[in-house]
Order: sequence, then C-alpha cells, then structure tokens
Amino acid sequence: MPTATHIAYYHLCHRKLWLFTHGMNMESSSVLVAEGRWIHETSYERRAKDYTELQIGNIKIDHYNTRTKFIHETKKSNKREAAHIAQLKYYIYKLEEANIEVYGGILEYPKLRKKEEVFLTEKDRETIPYWIRETEEIMHMDECPPLVKKTLCKKCAYFDFCYVS
Ligand code: SF4
Repeated sequence: MPTATHIAYYHLCHRKLWLFTHGMNMESSSVLVAEGRWIHETSYERRAKDYTELQIGNIKIDHYNTRTKFIHETKKSNKREAAHIAQLKYYIYKLEEANIEVYGGILEYPKLRKKEEVFLTEKDRETIPYWIRETEEIMHMDECPPLVKKTLCKKCAYFDFCYVS
C-alpha cells in the first residue's frame, strides 16, 4: 500500500515517485527537507495534549486532534500545492477506511502564515482508489519513467540525478 509520501510524489512527478520507491532516497540529505523537518518540529512545539500520533499499516499521521477530529499537517513550502492537498485527503481516506472518526484536515503554511481546511468529497472517495492503483503501477515499473521538465525540478532533491548524471 502506498504511503502518503508516495501519493504526494505521484501528484508531483512520476519519476520522483519511482526513484524514491527504488531506494534513491536523496530527500534525507536534502537541505530543503531538513528545513521542512525544522518547521514541522518547531511549529508543533506548543501543541497540546489533544494531539495524538496514529499509525494505520504503513501510514503514519503525526498530528490527529482527538477533540476536533481534524488532522493537522505543516508544510515548509511558501506556496500551496495540489500534492499537499492530495496527501491530506489520502490521510482522511485511510482514517475513514479504518473507521476512525475524522472530519477533515488542516494544512498549515508557517512561511505564509496561512491555514487551509481540506475535506474529503464523494468524488475524492471515488478517485483515491484510482490514485492508489496508478501509484502502485508506477512503483512497480521495471524502468524509471522519463524525465519531464517541470518548474519544481530546480528545488527537487533529485535534480542532480536527473540533470547532471
Ligand atoms: S528533478 Fe524533476 S524530473 Fe527529476 S525527479 Fe525531480 S521533479 Fe522529477
């Protein structure tokens, strides 16, 4: 079963999804990711006892509010991205599937000082199984999908791999 990271990468770049799945995990050494972790940790420092961590199979949700039934997800990005929403919808979908009460999610962008509420629609419930199937197909492909140039490439941890090597 794909993790939320796989689903996010599916929305960002199929090549990135494949490279990550096949052990090319350059994200851990990336400065950008380190920055993301720092924002994540400092943003949640003051979080109260209402929040708990949930693990459903290989899906790990860091901040689920047991009182409001909302998932909170912090992003380092200074712009809103479709992949963030997709990742959060996937979390909500998995909680629903596990019969855990959930009303929605809140995306937090500390750099933008913005929050965005995310809810699962009936259309999402029909579409997400398709995301899962397609993500799994890409993960199991024998060959890496071809490079398709995108604006996000220059900030991607695989930039050197895709453009230099
Ligand atoms: S550098 Fe671009 S093409 Fe390569 S994995 Fe990253 S986003 Fe995809």
